[in-house]
Amino acid sequence: MFFDRAERGPQYGVNKTRTQAMPESPRMVPLYIARIVDLRVGQSVSIRCRACGHVAELAAIHLRERLPRDAFVKHLGPQFRYQLCGHKGAEVDARRALGHYG
Ligand SMILES: [Zn+2]
Repeated sequence: MFFDRAERGPQYGVNKTRTQAMPESPRMVPLYIARIVDLRVGQSVSIRCRACGHVAELAAIHLRERLPRDAFVKHLGPQFRYQLCGHKGAEVDARRALGHYG
């Protein structure tokens, strides 16, 4: 796991060409029904610690390999523990991995 700042803004087009390798839904998936299987391989999910505000970027493939395919993305936050401060509970931003930004 590595940490990154979330404020850099969108990186237009960088990841668009290498997400087609696996069969996935091309449509945008609303967050309230999104499951692990809906996360796009090649994209990442932002996870922000509720205590210290650190942001981690986790690759979607990383989550797909470790979590049940039918687990709801919106339920993931409380399960994350940030190693450096030990706080359990995070905000999960999976919009990019769900295709919300094209
Ligand atoms: Zn923290």
